[in-house]
Amino acid sequence: MLVEKQKSHSTYYRASLAQNIAKNGFVVMPCSWCASQGLVCKMIARTKRCEAYVRRGRSYDSSSIPLSSYKLRRIKDAKRRAELKLDES
Ligand SMILES: [Zn+2]
Repeated sequence: MLVEKQKSHSTYYRASLAQNIAKNGFVVMPCSWCASQGLVCKMIARTKRCEAYVRRGRSYDSSSIPLSSYKLRRIKDAKRRAELKLDES
């Protein structure tokens, strides 16, 4: 069947794409999957999915924010939490 051929082709494509991301990708803000698995989330510009997602062949849920701005946001969140604690006491 034609459908089976397409499936095996996309499986091969995903495997080579995942390898390409592992080699040439950059670290981005972890998607929910990578965060839950404790993985480093990597992607390349032309794909909208990270390496782990390409390997899994699932739709992607991250906003693909570079890790540098993610860290910046976390610092702001921590600061906000500290301010909230001050309000409580
Ligand atoms: Zn990921």
